[in-house]
Amino acid sequence: MNRLIIIASILLMMISCTTNPGTSPDPLTTLKNGIFIDLTWSFDEQSVYWPTNIPFKHETVFDGINDKGFYYSSFKFSAEEHGGTHFDSPMHFAQGGNSIEKVPVEQLTGEGVVVDVTAKASGNRDYQVMTADFEAWEKVNGRIPDGAIVLINTGFGKYYPDKEKYIGTLLPGKEGVANLHFPGLHPDAAKWLATERKIKGVGLDTPSIDFGQSKEFLTHRMLFANNLTAYENVAHLDQLPPKGIWIFAFPMKIKGGSGAPLRIVALIPKPS
Ligand SMILES: [Zn+2]
Repeated sequence: MNRLIIIASILLMMISCTTNPGTSPDPLTTLKNGIFIDLTWSFDEQSVYWPTNIPFKHETVFDGINDKGFYYSSFKFSAEEHGGTHFDSPMHFAQGGNSIEKVPVEQLTGEGVVVDVTAKASGNRDYQVMTADFEAWEKVNGRIPDGAIVLINTGFGKYYPDKEKYIGTLLPGKEGVANLHFPGLHPDAAKWLATERKIKGVGLDTPSIDFGQSKEFLTHRMLFANNLTAYENVAHLDQLPPKGIWIFAFPMKIKGGSGAPLRIVALIPKPS
């Protein structure tokens, strides 16, 4: 029986060598055969901003038939850095840390892993993702690869942009901040990711990488002190497999920016 298995394995290896002579698939073929999933929420007046922020504005400069008789449109927008689907540069909580234009492009793209904590977060709006959640992921999927962008699916993306359900309150200002209830990454787990693994950044489907009730923002401080980046209000994480994906996450290149609107997409293999 064992001999049969060995022969079958050798045959399989030979077949795969004939059909795929390279040791790894051609990257262009992989790109062409992949499916892009947009992980970005559109920016509009419903976009979720911090309770102390001014909401996103998109105003018409001109929209219609001009005096020369052809159609023309142009608008202007204004936005705080940290609202809607957005990027946090290390400078956000680390003095002297990289502002957006200093973050190397290589850090804005990488292999993605998706850690699903929806079961825990659905019963606890204040859930903080623990190191044990990553260890459980690794038990099934293998070690988090070097250079990974770690995405956390809390399940809260399904509430966006219903503010009351998504962040826990409709109140503006300081009162709103006091009533924020949404899951985040525990500072101990942030430390583990920053020191025990070699990752590029962390993203999740809530407004902040620290949970809503955080007062000290220790997770932000830990990640950014280690030159990592963060992605917040990420969309459609439920559409991604746990691994085998590639993330492209490019923020607006604001010089000196601590954060910016972000376009983030995942490339996943076409289902066979
Ligand atoms: Zn932010």
